Amino acid sequence: MSGPAGGEPAVPAAVVVRGILRWWAGARQERDRLPWRRTRDPWEVLVAETMLAQTQVGRVGSRYEELLDRFPTPAALACSPVGDVVRAWSGLGYNRRAVLLHSAACALVERHQGVVPRELHELLALPGVGPYTARAVQAIAFGARVGVVDTNVGRVLARAVAGRALRAREAQRLADGLVPDGSARDWAVALMDFGALVCRARRPGCAGCPLGTACAWRCAGAGGADPAIGSSAVTRPQGRFAGSDREGRGRLVRAACAGPVGGDELARAAGWPEDPGRALAVARALVADAVLVETPDGSFALP
Ligand code: SF4
Repeated sequence: MSGPAGGEPAVPAAVVVRGILRWWAGARQERDRLPWRRTRDPWEVLVAETMLAQTQVGRVGSRYEELLDRFPTPAALACSPVGDVVRAWSGLGYNRRAVLLHSAACALVERHQGVVPRELHELLALPGVGPYTARAVQAIAFGARVGVVDTNVGRVLARAVAGRALRAREAQRLADGLVPDGSARDWAVALMDFGALVCRARRPGCAGCPLGTACAWRCAGAGGADPAIGSSAVTRPQGRFAGSDREGRGRLVRAACAGPVGGDELARAAGWPEDPGRALAVARALVADAVLVETPDGSFALP
């Protein structure tokens, strides 16, 4: 299926925006119960978006509030040991994000007097803050008129708006152009929710979709390849968690939360008693990510 060039919408943008906002007016009550939806505090938004970037909503849940209770400000997090942040993060996966959040908090204290800035270049200069997180903070905390492109939004842009896979710049330009006047925050979360709940990666809800034939892909017959596959910001489905290195990493970090893991305990702690070489490689990868440190006696511990 081909689509328009230059990131121009294949269907009138206003029709898509109206349809999604109308759907969201009915869906938002449930979503507004999520704890991170009740705040516009820039630090709380930054923490939420960092957590949600690679972890499902259900798994973040109460962990978000627990983390903010412990580290209510960038200064509170910056002056805590990295190990405490990793411990608070354990179980959410991709523990390197905890290390980067600690680095970001330190940078906020050093460069911005402990305050989250609102300018894009300042946000992007923070460790671990990419284009999505930076713009999410701008739109949700500061109401800036910027498009926020996560995997859910990337999918909607490709399918509903362009009808084809998009390059990064096209997707961002398209997203920026869709933001309605005066409701940047609502639009950002409405579009993300629409992608997460209706225009899902697998089995999109086309039959009951409020966009109907205003969706470029559906309008063109929806018979061709999914335009979202390979489109900018759209993540590929992850491989099986069970048996993966990710599972072993998570187990090692959990074990290290209880105390240093000796070299001879690694394989069992990682869940691979028959494969100490794999456990050591995964532990060393965690050291390279600064999630763990290797002590002089060969143990692995939180930093
Ligand atoms: S019609 Fe289907 S593909 Fe198009 S926006 Fe709706 S759910 Fe997504």
